[in-house]
Amino acid sequence: QKATTSSKIFRPDFSFSKMGIGGLDSELGDIFRRAFASRVYPASVLAKMGLMHVRGVLLYGAPGCGKTLIARKIGKMLVDREPKVVNGPEIFSKYVGGSEENIRNLFAEAKAEQAEKGDESELHVIILDELDAICRQRGTTRGDTGVGDSVVNQLLSYIDGVDSLNNILLIGMTNRKDMLDEALLRPGRLEVHVEIGLPDERGRVQIISIHTNSMKANGFLDSQVNVEELATMTKNYTGAELEGVCKAAASYAFERNIDKSNLDHPHANIDNIRVMMEDFTRAINEVKPAFGVSMDQLD
Ligand code: ATP
Repeated sequence: QKATTSSKIFRPDFSFSKMGIGGLDSELGDIFRRAFASRVYPASVLAKMGLMHVRGVLLYGAPGCGKTLIARKIGKMLVDREPKVVNGPEIFSKYVGGSEENIRNLFAEAKAEQAEKGDESELHVIILDELDAICRQRGTTRGDTGVGDSVVNQLLSYIDGVDSLNNILLIGMTNRKDMLDEALLRPGRLEVHVEIGLPDERGRVQIISIHTNSMKANGFLDSQVNVEELATMTKNYTGAELEGVCKAAASYAFERNIDKSNLDHPHANIDNIRVMMEDFTRAINEVKPAFGVSMDQLD
């Protein structure tokens, strides 16, 4: 559905159901409402209300629950191409001024376009994973070289301050929100904070369905496989672990189907592959959920 306003900034095609993200409906709804709904309207309308577009979203929470997945899908949906995901540690350079230059380069395209087209410029989505690696509380950077601090400062100056850009949306991700410099999380900066947590039972049904969709569509999934039952057996599993369960289940089906009578020339008949309920139960015993590991140990 195209926007009905005359905004040239933002022409969204929101189809969350097609994004391949299981569960997280309310989180996706929050992200839409807080960060994107205003983008359908020209900045001039917001200005009349004394508001500005949200420039930054922080997705935080335990590993493997779908932060990167959401950021990528949203990025692609907004700019209609595969968005670039930059990992925090990639920003650091061993050369003097190199890290600052890397930050500058991240914003260069958006800045050039905004200078040329003003309010008419397209939205640029910048996705920064492992944000805690570059945006730790200033003064606490390891080695105390001060490089981390100046990277934070520079990032802040692009989000607001003199270099303020209206045509960017920064999506930051971290497992360690507590480590981030608080200045980054203030209103006007990465102001929308959405926790991406473990899926509930309904979410697990959706995630398992997503990751068995191709098997099912191509006739490789046994009709006795009961996704609801699998969801009840996988409490505390993250999305990534559920994907791992589906892969491990398929591996049992592959192995069973290989004719091992001549190991020099192992043979398998593709048509006979069936991933069974028992493959999933074995896989669930094999792939154990990490939940319960202290977040401190993830650093
Ligand atoms: P990290 O903090 O380690 O970067 P993350 O929260 O960003 O973890 P993802 O990288 O998005 O997690 O998840 C890894 C993979 O697990 C995804 O590419 C996807 O295949 C699967 N996955 C995770 N969550 C979901 C979900 N909610 N729906 C469908 N698949 C999911």
